[in-house]
Amino acid sequence: MGSHMRYISTRGDATPRNFSEILLAGLAPDGGLYMPESWPVFSADRWRSLRAESYPDLAAEVIAPFAEGAIDLATLRLLCRDAYVHFDHPAIAPLREIEDGLFAMELFHGPTLAFKDMAMQLLGRLFDHVLADQDRPVTIVGATSGDTGSAAIEALAGRKRINVVILHPDGRTSAVQRRQMTTVQAPNICNIAIDGTFDDCQDLVKAMFADAPFREEVGLSAVNSINWARIAAQIPYYVRAALALGAPDRPVSFAVPTGNFGNVLAAWAARKMGLPIAKLCIGSNRNDILTRFLTSNDMSVRQVQPSLSPSMDIQVSSNFERLLFELLDRDAQACSAIMQEFRKTGRMSVPQGVWEHAHAQISGLRLDDVETLSEMRSIYTRSLYQADPHTAIGIAAGRAAREPGVPMVVAATAHPAKFPDAVVEATGIHPALPPHLADLFDRPERFDRRPNTLGVIQDAVRAHVARTH
Ligand SMILES: *Cc1c(COP(=O)(O)O)cnc(C)c1O
Repeated sequence: MGSHMRYISTRGDATPRNFSEILLAGLAPDGGLYMPESWPVFSADRWRSLRAESYPDLAAEVIAPFAEGAIDLATLRLLCRDAYVHFDHPAIAPLREIEDGLFAMELFHGPTLAFKDMAMQLLGRLFDHVLADQDRPVTIVGATSGDTGSAAIEALAGRKRINVVILHPDGRTSAVQRRQMTTVQAPNICNIAIDGTFDDCQDLVKAMFADAPFREEVGLSAVNSINWARIAAQIPYYVRAALALGAPDRPVSFAVPTGNFGNVLAAWAARKMGLPIAKLCIGSNRNDILTRFLTSNDMSVRQVQPSLSPSMDIQVSSNFERLLFELLDRDAQACSAIMQEFRKTGRMSVPQGVWEHAHAQISGLRLDDVETLSEMRSIYTRSLYQADPHTAIGIAAGRAAREPGVPMVVAATAHPAKFPDAVVEATGIHPALPPHLADLFDRPERFDRRPNTLGVIQDAVRAHVARTH
């Protein structure tokens, strides 16, 4: 302790960076993702001492070692206390026991009704803090399959040093998701609907980051889950749930509906920090590249298929690279070679030993749309619990991986009212939007449609930056 936390890239760039630097940089210059140079480990006594903290104060304590040398604990505490003010549940991330020993950890009590708010509300404030220090503006460009975009927009609207451009796949987000983005009228916000898939949007963002002159010109920065600060801000709720269920004196398992692998990576990080996490399981929809990998070492990209759980309609899960880096014992050269081959061929060859390691640590379950609806129906019938399609997939994955005597906590990632069509189809009951969003369908929308062409999108970003100055 007392030293500075430094960050290294999964592809080998070892220039030491601190938390503020990687917060603003997002992706590493070599195309890799930043990782803490070492994992902070808390002792059992330290974990126990955190049991009594409020959620925001707990979050500050858990994030502090990752920010060491850049942002101090007192500042983090203020930012965390402010970040969770607008959540509509006093526990912030309440646990609900929906079956014996199986808990839903509700992460959807923030302003946009999905778990992205948990990290993004803090991130907006971290950006403000660091940019005020440096007195400079940035342009946030992000790709979203729905929830990241609305959470980013909600967290960043009206912040004066931040321009925001969010790309979403045209027609592939739910109407609630789209409207949560496109009805925000703050002038620093720009929404673009791309004629393509989420992966296309994500590729455009990556290409903009890879274009160094452009990156400089507009002061590019990112808030999608490649940003380590977001992963760090997602660790506290795993800690909170584990402590509430008896950790560090009892093991706990987690199941997470997974798309870009960011949420479950935070659970992995909590385990690395010394929490006794027995099992980690992920759920996927028909876009099952991750569950195919975990069950049969088949990491090959297929066409993205729209599903009832659009926030998981992803084939290239960016954060998987961080897990791979860990599984390769942090051999950045090997990680870089595997990632480059994957990009070229659409197929990842992971050494058998490494795969066995992954297979032993994380299990996976895939549900198609019919199975998802039937899971939603049976959860409702048995427990009178309305689960959104993402959460239902997580519950199924968690149930499949349960061990006797070990509580299983499922990340409930979205409010059912965010996906009303699926919920009505499964349960016959229309989930109501919370009061602050009740007039969402009456608000005017503002967004541009653009082709999946890098040059066109870069020009749109330039125009937005120019307009807001
Ligand atoms: C983003 C999201 C996911 C996937 O989370 P990742 O961190 O990308 O794995 C799952 N469910 C919902 C509702 C989401 O918004």
